[in-house]
Amino acid sequence: MAGNITLTMIKPEAVAKNYIGPILNMINEAGFKIAAMKLTKLSTRQAEAFYAIHSDKPFYADLVDFMSSGPIVAAILERDNAVEEFRKLIGATNPENAEEGTIRKQYAESLQKNAVHGSDSDENALVEADFFFANSDRVDYM
Ligand code: UDP
Ligand code: MG
Repeated sequence: MAGNITLTMIKPEAVAKNYIGPILNMINEAGFKIAAMKLTKLSTRQAEAFYAIHSDKPFYADLVDFMSSGPIVAAILERDNAVEEFRKLIGATNPENAEEGTIRKQYAESLQKNAVHGSDSDENALVEADFFFANSDRVDYM
């Protein structure tokens, strides 16, 4: 299982702009299977915890405010080499640097409001999956 999952969030601005469907379509077309998914809203405390790794960064407080500002979609995605392949699919953090054909190039509006989250390592993917989902929420396709 390790190496086969990543955790994504469709961020508040992308949900508000009705991009859930188009973004999930790109995710499916890239060969990811959805192993768990929910629409939810992060509290300030949950957003702080999720992004605790960035707590010393100047953008942290604004990021927490933004990420708790409205509904998000959280999902566990399954695919070979999921973390790396999903980072390729979403593109650079700053959409101005994101390549054509990436989710952020197509749907992000700014460095902060960049449409989607993707885990940065297998280890963090497992931690982030557990942040949102119980084992009983997950479908196993393998
Ligand atoms: N972010 C921001 N300003 C910055 C860098 C990042 O607002 O200068 C936000 C942005 O929403 C990004 C999130 O903080 O997606 C987490 O940053 P990270 O460097 O982990 O980027 P990611 O892994 O999401 O590409
Ligand atoms: Mg990151």
